[in-house]
Amino acid sequence: MQYLLAIVAVLVVLGLMIQYWYISLLVAAALVSPRIVRHFRMKRYFASESFLAHKEAVAGVVEEHNEVAAYTTEIRTSGTFELGASSTGTQAHLATFENTSRHAHRRDRNVADYASSNVHNCSLQVVRNAASDPLKYLTKYFSIRPTETTLEDVEGLGESVSRLEAAVANLKRREDDISINVNPPAFILKHYSDEFMKQVGVHLTPIAVPYPEYRFEYVSAGGNSSQRTLVTLNTPTIDALIELLSEKIRFAKSAAGQRALMTAKLRGFIKERDHFSCQQCAASVAVEPNLLLEVDHIIPVSKGGLSEVTNLQTLCWRCNRTKSNKLPTA
Ligand SMILES: [Zn+2]
Repeated sequence: MQYLLAIVAVLVVLGLMIQYWYISLLVAAALVSPRIVRHFRMKRYFASESFLAHKEAVAGVVEEHNEVAAYTTEIRTSGTFELGASSTGTQAHLATFENTSRHAHRRDRNVADYASSNVHNCSLQVVRNAASDPLKYLTKYFSIRPTETTLEDVEGLGESVSRLEAAVANLKRREDDISINVNPPAFILKHYSDEFMKQVGVHLTPIAVPYPEYRFEYVSAGGNSSQRTLVTLNTPTIDALIELLSEKIRFAKSAAGQRALMTAKLRGFIKERDHFSCQQCAASVAVEPNLLLEVDHIIPVSKGGLSEVTNLQTLCWRCNRTKSNKLPTA
């Protein structure tokens, strides 16, 4: 609103100066009036009885949405979203870097980043090779070694990522349902969607999934050129990494090959086996289409539980939340 008033003021002042003030006033009015009208229509809609009645009708749905939103924040803060570290960055914090060139053409437009553990500074050749064989280079240069422990870490990361992805998607579906149920006028959804959610009582939590990202970076000596390859650990990449590590471990004749791998495929299989229903409270997607389901280790990995089909079950978010809240004291 403020910047519109500023435009009006500027136009009026300019108009007065050039003696065609009435023209500038007309232009200003034409610019501002639709927005003002819309603003008052919005105010009127949110005060209307029809809106308030709809708001009352969806109160229960909104309340549950907000609980899932809080749960999503918990997943975000309690999950692990990191893995490995670059060898070029580990001791960089012990030194400071400065470009002390004094000639006229300082070419430090590109500066190498040595401070981040997710950046590997390397030759152009390595940057290019990493683009064609990302997992091989990722494991090699970010010290992701083929051991049982690393494999468990990657699987843990995969579970954190997939739980958060599912929860964020679930929130979005719930918000869409609330919009459909209240069915506000089109201009509200177009121009005031956040305000709409606020008025209904929805706590909006802008949660992006913090996929770990790894960069192979080449910066030329003069800073003239810079090239990079980016590897993002999203679900397909994580699953591929799990397969790769397990193959290497199996090749080394460890016992790792005996158990199932905790991939998106296995999680999908468990949910299907359990008929998309909670094995504790029997809540099911058939009854609650927006039910958030998760795959749980019956005996937790931290207590030696294996990723075996027999040690995995489907739980709804409520039961899983209660279970994980109980665990530290158990
Ligand atoms: Zn349940």
